[in-house]
Amino acid sequence: MTVDPIYLDYSATTPPRPEAIEAVTHALQQSGNPSSVHAAGRSVRGLVESARRQVAASVNARAESLVFTSGATEANVTAVTRTGAERLIVSAVEHESVLNVAEDCGLPHQIVPVDNGGVLDLAELQSALSMGEGRALVCVMLVNNETGAIQPVAEATRMAHEAGAQIHCDAVQGLGKIPVDFDGLGVDFMSISAHKMGGPLGVGALIARDPAQIQPLIRGGGQEHNYRAGTENVPGIVGFGRACELLTESPVDWAAIQTWRDRWEDRIRSLANDAVVFSDSAPRLPGTSLVAMPGVTGETQVMSFDLEGLCVSSGSACSSGKVKASRILKAMGVEESLAGSVIRVSMGWNSREEDLDRLFDAWSALYRRTRQREAS
Ligand code: PMP
Repeated sequence: MTVDPIYLDYSATTPPRPEAIEAVTHALQQSGNPSSVHAAGRSVRGLVESARRQVAASVNARAESLVFTSGATEANVTAVTRTGAERLIVSAVEHESVLNVAEDCGLPHQIVPVDNGGVLDLAELQSALSMGEGRALVCVMLVNNETGAIQPVAEATRMAHEAGAQIHCDAVQGLGKIPVDFDGLGVDFMSISAHKMGGPLGVGALIARDPAQIQPLIRGGGQEHNYRAGTENVPGIVGFGRACELLTESPVDWAAIQTWRDRWEDRIRSLANDAVVFSDSAPRLPGTSLVAMPGVTGETQVMSFDLEGLCVSSGSACSSGKVKASRILKAMGVEESLAGSVIRVSMGWNSREEDLDRLFDAWSALYRRTRQREAS
């Protein structure tokens, strides 16, 4: 008998919700290109436009402002490189699809530091805004993907606009977990992704206050009002729309999840006085926990828990066989060996309290084994 693994890696990707799978399956059974003028095409076009309204409504934006993309990576790259910015001001904890592109795209860019809780330093943002020439684009994510720390996007937006700059918000890790309000935040651009909130992989959206600013990253046909060429991923878009509807139709009980998360962290702290929980005093997502077991690499922990049927991720990235400590933790001033001994636990719509109990059992067993070995 095989036992299903316990999945505690919702920030990497969220298992699709059954209703979204049904919607994708239904859309796969329709034939028709949404650009075709005949009845089959018009019917599929109807599906795309209704999904556009569902997705836009979930972030309080107008449907006309929303361009479907292949995911948030494409939406981020489009916002950073194709909306007319002349210089970039980027938080130090942005996703690679913002930070690496800002570094490579040839525009002048400034990196704004975060505090030791992983939260943007607004005074540093203010000083970055006062330097440099040309139209600036500020990039501040809503929630960091490693720590779960919530960023002061509304304040950053006010400061950016007062300085005549525009602002882009990568809201990928916020959607489905905390309220996301495009109009309320007042940002100029926002990126979201379906697979982080119960929808399918490979579809996302860029929302723009003035879509006419977007120069297509992908050129070709005139789809998406000329803002993004390529025949639409209709099943993905339909599944995205349905997953967005579910956010209000059957909301996740985040208050319960937060209680379980807090209890897991309390148990870790009372067992291991050298363990570190990151961003625990910052405003943070309810279902994310980034925890260091000093002296045991994140990779060792991930592999050891995997053998016990528990899926978590390490807080560090592995490139060309070498383990690199997380650049997010580095930006928070965390020393390298501690940053390399971290796991990220993240929960969502299908999580259960006993999942964290199982993880705690495995975590405490590994901790005890390691400390005993060190002592002998
Ligand atoms: N931004 C953030 C904060 C993310 O966590 C991710 C996914 N790791 C992305 C952007 C990229 O999203 P996608 O997988 O849809 O390209």
